[in-house]
Amino acid sequence: MKKFIMKYVLYLVRWQLSTPILAVCVVWLKDWPTTWSTAMANLIGGLGFFWIDKLIFTGKLREEWEIRENVLCCDCGKQSRGYRLVFKKGYDKRDDPKPEFRCEACSITKKQQIDAAMQPA
Ligand SMILES: [Zn+2]
Repeated sequence: MKKFIMKYVLYLVRWQLSTPILAVCVVWLKDWPTTWSTAMANLIGGLGFFWIDKLIFTGKLREEWEIRENVLCCDCGKQSRGYRLVFKKGYDKRDDPKPEFRCEACSITKKQQIDAAMQPA
């Protein structure tokens, strides 16, 4: 529910960003009928906001990490705060029965390996 509310608030903020485009178009096209200048504003806004909305609703920007205190890094064995990437687009370890935690340095290396493996060839 919290994620839905956050997404909804983000969408409402995004929606307000269309206000300046609408205002500029209505003033700029003041000789046009209001319906036509509003339609032009929506067309211009839609060309840009399509991509922003796509990011909001597909979650392509979303990454989830889990952090635990005092764990042994599964790569170097150092005891420290542990990190693990749980979810990002194309990578889902939410139901991992044996989650692996890494120290900060090793988690950065692991993240780079995951990102490199997900790059299109
Ligand atoms: Zn480590």
